[in-house]
Amino acid sequence: MIGILGGGQLGRMLALAAARLGFDITILTPEADSPASRVAAHTLHAAYDDPVALGELARRCAVVTFEFENVPAGVVAALHGLGVPTAPSDLALATAQDRVIEKTFFRNQGIATVDFVAIDNADDIVAGLARLGAPALLKTRREGYDGKGQAWVATPEEASSAFERLGRVPMILEARAPFVRELSIIAARAHDGTVSAYPLTENTHRDGVLRLSVAPAAAQARTHDAASALARTTLEQLNYVGVAGIELFELANGDLLVNEFAPRVHNSGHWTLDACEVDQFEQHIRAIAGWPLGPTQPFAQARMENLLGADVETWAALAAEPGARLWLYGKRDALAGRKMGHVTRLSALS
Ligand code: AMP
Repeated sequence: MIGILGGGQLGRMLALAAARLGFDITILTPEADSPASRVAAHTLHAAYDDPVALGELARRCAVVTFEFENVPAGVVAALHGLGVPTAPSDLALATAQDRVIEKTFFRNQGIATVDFVAIDNADDIVAGLARLGAPALLKTRREGYDGKGQAWVATPEEASSAFERLGRVPMILEARAPFVRELSIIAARAHDGTVSAYPLTENTHRDGVLRLSVAPAAAQARTHDAASALARTTLEQLNYVGVAGIELFELANGDLLVNEFAPRVHNSGHWTLDACEVDQFEQHIRAIAGWPLGPTQPFAQARMENLLGADVETWAALAAEPGARLWLYGKRDALAGRKMGHVTRLSALS
């Protein structure tokens, strides 16, 4: 029995992969009728920090993982304290949850990021703009995703209103990354320390949300090598077990900056479901179960599009399209911008 904290589509696809390998899944989620719980053997419907539910999860499961990075890191530490192994660790989760800690971690490993300053008040923003140049991107340190909790600041006069608008919480101010495109690398580390990465993925976002992933990305060999090397360093330094997604900015000369990392399977790795023998979900289950990692070389070129909100209403046409591989997440309401499913189209590797 494997436990998963979180009940979204990533948990659903993890549960499907786990079932295929003969494991049962228990989901812990505060969400009623979640996408993951509808394909899992058991669900504990409770808050993440509910002590009774955590005790039950620890008793039932051989290992617990998470599919949602805003699960409190203390909950993962508490499970560990209850005697159930957790993977990835609470250290990896805590590092990814705070953008200042995360970027400081990368800096300390010699991995390039944009310049940044920690922000506690509007005056820090004014000083930060003078140091980083304008415009700069203000982000909440915690709990931002899909472009939420972010605002560009162009002038010192905008500092106060931007600080108010993002909720007067601890923030980070980032220099603008002069990227030519966005890439990501999905990598896994096994219990025995083996690290394996899928080829680079090229990602297109709209309004801060991933729309399109193309893989393997056409890139210089040195860019592929640099991404694999920084993924290996990241996972090794965090003593990581499982799959992680690392988001990258590629500069005009092919150099890479790390934007952030997700301590979980990642939306930009969904193409592996249809283009690889072992996809990122199975790879994560293999890693946390102590199995050997599977192969990561794709057998096809893949183009994955997210179906957001009303996009999902095209399902019948997509289902009728030869070669379109459709994944639907079973969400009840197609709210605007909500990730409802994705479609992947394969072609011959070039
Ligand atoms: P994030 O929530 O950090 O993944 O940011 C969402 C999106 O905002 C990224 O995918 C980029 O398109 C853009 N972005 C984030 N940080 C920066 C930056 N420092 N400079 C330019 N664009 C950025």
